[in-house]
Amino acid sequence: MCAVIVAALTVAASTFEGNGAYIGNAVEKYCPDVSQVTNLSEIVVKAQSYYSTCSPYSTGEDDSVLAQNDSLYKTEKGYSVYVNDEILGNVSEKGKVNLEKHIEEFLSSYKSDEKNAKTVLTDKIEYARGTFDSLSIVSSQEILAQMELEAKTTYTTTCSEEIPFEVVYENSDQIFTDCRVVSTEGKAGQKNVVYTVSEINGEVVSKTAEKETVVADAVNQVVLVGTKQPVTLSAEDIEKAGDYVFPLSGQSCYISSDFGYREFDGSFHNGTDYAADEGTEVYCAADGVVTFAGWDDTGYGNYVVVTHENGYKTGYAHLSSISAEEGKKISAGDIIGGVGSTGYSTGNHLHLNVFYNGESVDPQELFG
Ligand SMILES: [Zn+2]
Repeated sequence: MCAVIVAALTVAASTFEGNGAYIGNAVEKYCPDVSQVTNLSEIVVKAQSYYSTCSPYSTGEDDSVLAQNDSLYKTEKGYSVYVNDEILGNVSEKGKVNLEKHIEEFLSSYKSDEKNAKTVLTDKIEYARGTFDSLSIVSSQEILAQMELEAKTTYTTTCSEEIPFEVVYENSDQIFTDCRVVSTEGKAGQKNVVYTVSEINGEVVSKTAEKETVVADAVNQVVLVGTKQPVTLSAEDIEKAGDYVFPLSGQSCYISSDFGYREFDGSFHNGTDYAADEGTEVYCAADGVVTFAGWDDTGYGNYVVVTHENGYKTGYAHLSSISAEEGKKISAGDIIGGVGSTGYSTGNHLHLNVFYNGESVDPQELFG
């Protein structure tokens, strides 16, 4: 009997980790002291010795060194590992501890700092306790290699977000047609949004808004769109104006900007620009009285206004110098000043205004 044991132990040596022993066919023999023995050769000696001295004992189902049918093999307590109800293999008790430790570490590596964050495995992992032939027990590493671990982290988070303002358009008959003026600046509002966020292995896979709280409403931007049509002179009106002289000598000037809506800046140009060299003489267009001669703060720079009969006025802007005197009568052809680039101007030119009953009209209608 003993010779059989020794031979069998040699075969099983690499996996032998007994905590109890049955020898030979005598499965009813239990040798409890052997459970403490870890050294292979020691256990053989002790087993041989106990074999003759042990008294019959319990069936000892939990013991791990079992010799049956003249061979020796080992059973071991452990766990079957299931992933989503499918068995991956058996591990020892220590293997299970390693597995759980590894999974715990894996989950911790994806733990979120967010309050109430929960990190769980996407797969269901279960362990079923049992006693197995030790040859069927594999390492926790082998089990892990078969698992594709996925950590799912869910949490709620609150983000402060901007509420974009809307732009609303309103018609205005106070503004020339097509011109746009912002009457109220838009202002973005603010809201707090509570999101439920899901992450798989640290990557956000979904973000769902659960609740919104408006902290500050957005203010609509109001844009006035002009509907006012510029006055056009009738033949009768032009007749009333009488004779007008062109205010520049005309030889070295050209129209650099027409009266009317200017697409490039969305503004309304209330006069005609004539580009000319600096200092070119500017003449009064018709008889009248100088009702303004001086600096204009609205952008005309050096500016002269002459009031004529029949509801007409002419204005001469951006002058380099002024020769007319406010309050004095003036005649058609008298010198008012020189062409310049004062006020809001990007080059030497005469900005000529014509007003009829207080409304800007196209100077080209009189001088065209
Ligand atoms: Zn102009």
